[in-house]
Amino acid sequence: MFYLHKVYNWLVYKRGHYSRIFGAVALRKSPNSIIAAIMFFITLVVVAGFVLSEQKQDTEYNRFTALQELSRIRAQLEGLINANLISMRSLRAEFSLNAEVDRERFDQLTAALLSDDLHVRHVAIAPNLIVSHIYPESGNEAAIGLDYRTSPGQYQSVQEAIAAREITINGPIELVQGGTALIARLPVFSQHDGSLWGIVSQVIDYEHLLDDAGVHQSDSLTISLRGANGSGEKGPIISGNPTVWEQNPLTTQVTLPQGYWVLAAQPISGRWAPPLYHYYGWWTLGLVVSLLLSILSFALLNTISKLRSAFATISHQAQYDSLTGLPNRSYFVQHLNDLVRQGNRKAKPFAILFIDLDHFKEINDSLGHEAGDILLQQVAKRIRNTVRLNDVVARFGGDEFVVLVTDLNEPFEAEVIANNIFRALQPILSIENHDVLMQASIGVSVFPNDGTSASDLLKHADLAMYAAKSSGRGTSYFFNESLREQAESHLQLHQEILKGLDREQFSVHYQPIIHSQSNSIVAIEALVRWHHPTLGLISPAHFIPVAEKTGTIREIGQFVLERVCQDYHRLINADLPLRISVNRSSREFNDPNAVNQWIDTLDRYKVPRSCITFEITESILMPDKERQHKMLEALASTGINLAIDDFGTGYSSVTYLRNFPVRQVKIDRAFLHQVPSNTQQVALVKAVIEMSHALQLDIVAEGVETEQQGTALRALHCTFQQGYYYARPLPLDQLIMQFNPHTGISSHRYQL
Ligand code: C2E
Ligand code: MG
Ligand code: MG
Repeated sequence: MFYLHKVYNWLVYKRGHYSRIFGAVALRKSPNSIIAAIMFFITLVVVAGFVLSEQKQDTEYNRFTALQELSRIRAQLEGLINANLISMRSLRAEFSLNAEVDRERFDQLTAALLSDDLHVRHVAIAPNLIVSHIYPESGNEAAIGLDYRTSPGQYQSVQEAIAAREITINGPIELVQGGTALIARLPVFSQHDGSLWGIVSQVIDYEHLLDDAGVHQSDSLTISLRGANGSGEKGPIISGNPTVWEQNPLTTQVTLPQGYWVLAAQPISGRWAPPLYHYYGWWTLGLVVSLLLSILSFALLNTISKLRSAFATISHQAQYDSLTGLPNRSYFVQHLNDLVRQGNRKAKPFAILFIDLDHFKEINDSLGHEAGDILLQQVAKRIRNTVRLNDVVARFGGDEFVVLVTDLNEPFEAEVIANNIFRALQPILSIENHDVLMQASIGVSVFPNDGTSASDLLKHADLAMYAAKSSGRGTSYFFNESLREQAESHLQLHQEILKGLDREQFSVHYQPIIHSQSNSIVAIEALVRWHHPTLGLISPAHFIPVAEKTGTIREIGQFVLERVCQDYHRLINADLPLRISVNRSSREFNDPNAVNQWIDTLDRYKVPRSCITFEITESILMPDKERQHKMLEALASTGINLAIDDFGTGYSSVTYLRNFPVRQVKIDRAFLHQVPSNTQQVALVKAVIEMSHALQLDIVAEGVETEQQGTALRALHCTFQQGYYYARPLPLDQLIMQFNPHTGISSHRYQL
């Protein structure tokens, strides 16, 4: 698989390469199919190799069996030759002892020695090298009296036989009597004095001899014999097809008394094994296996490619913002961490510019999200084009962008870049036929002066950005001493809050919520109070925003909820079954376990969920907070009521409201300041009330301070009211004392 992958990478590289050069069509296709095709051919080559080796094995086997057959024929041939020569040896014994030739005895002896199954046509003796007798004589009479010495054709072989003192087989040669045959000659020497007696010759019908030895009868082999006169492979061909000798035949030696013959064989079919295409069984199997393998490798490679691209997409999504294509927070922070680590060594300053678009939410609300998205994309492009290529521009979410500018010579150079960004944003943006003027507030922190860790640098740039916003927007602000002090004071306050919670400096007051028509108390809002031992009563408006930033809001929130649960039972005991509204900060929704924890708390104190309302702000309904939305739905599904607090200060979008399980809307007290004197404001409040009725939402007016406001709201059909006019937030004891239906010294302004 490793090699497969190497091939894959190589092909991917080559694909690009060749596409560039030739615009090649074939390679533009996925390399997977090419690899699969290569796999197919490789397997086919392997199969071909296998078939070749099969063919080789068959060749070896067939040669082996052929050699066995050839050896059998050789053995038979040698046996027959020896059998034919026995008569000569017997005659030699006779004449070496007895030089005199007795014609009768010769005929008798020869007749006895030559049986029918031998191939001897006749035997001749030539005492003193002159043929004196031939058996059988008839037909051979012409040869009698032949003197070898005067017969040049035969004298040489006779002399060779004499020199060899052994049987020599000559031929095939033309006989004097006609026809061709082998002639075996044996010199006979006298036993008495060792002198040459003469020659015994024998004419052998070699055609029959070879037939009987099976030289011409093989079913599978073409056999040839060579080596006339016992001269071996160099001698002339004795029998068989001369082509046998042309291509490396199988050979074996036939041993003669003097010299040898060579038997050679070739398969009749001309080849030792079938041609390659005859192995169709293997070819079919190989083809099927090749196909299967290539399909498998194609499927496997496809899966790998899909996984690869999925991983690439996931890792891209994890590091880049899908809307603008810019790096996201996670990528940025990682990069910043790396830089800080290097920076500690290199000590060249770099700056972080925290950019927040001014009034983006309003534009988003009025033009719609799609327009908002286009705007963010265009802004992203403008910022990106303002800075150098190696500076990092990231989108942190919403309308927040962060730029990392490296290699500064002096920290103030960051201001030049901030001004460039302002300038780049200045030209009017045209979005869906609307002209939009986009401004931004920029906070700057510089390494190493304003922090030596990624989190400090980001936090300080963020603080500076808030400072820029509060100093009038459209400006940049450098992190400075007073901001540092503010940051430090936040840190201090954070510690104080934790200490205060531990030392029970916190308490909860309750402010009544009045039903407009009946003028009766129907619910109360829980508001946290902090009695600091030295600083006195600290307003939640002061410490809650800090607690939200530092995260202690979670501890405060849990404290308030537990206290509310306890007080709920005290109210029931005091015959005041009131619904209790509890403020929940958006920051508390960052903890994914928050919902479970709140439900657990209510269950632990056995407080019915329907008696609790959570007040949340509009910001949590923003579209990019899907996780928080799920939490809201989970909360609502448990029976807890949801109310939108301070309605009108944020996005005031009715569409948001419609999409969430919200039961109640609380109009921010800022809207009531000039009610009923200012008719425009009255109209606004009226519109909000009517909208809430249309959406079947309860509506609460906050901050009712005067009787006129109360009367006006009643006239506008505002269901509920809350404010100093009715009651200030009170400690529980006081609330019970004042509103207990039996003993309560209830205010003259309303009845229960
Ligand atoms: P809120 O939730 O809008 O609470 C109403 C605020 O308006 C309270 O201020 C209340 O005392 C004040 N208020 C009520 N009637 C009137 C009136 O007629 N005139 C004027 N001028 N003010 C009135 P408070 O208690 O100082 O709380 C301020 C904010 O602090 C709250 O605004 C809420 O956002 C936050 N807060 C208070 N308690 C908690 C809490 O337990 N958890 C969280 N997360 N936030 C809390
Ligand atoms: Mg509230
Ligand atoms: Mg409010």
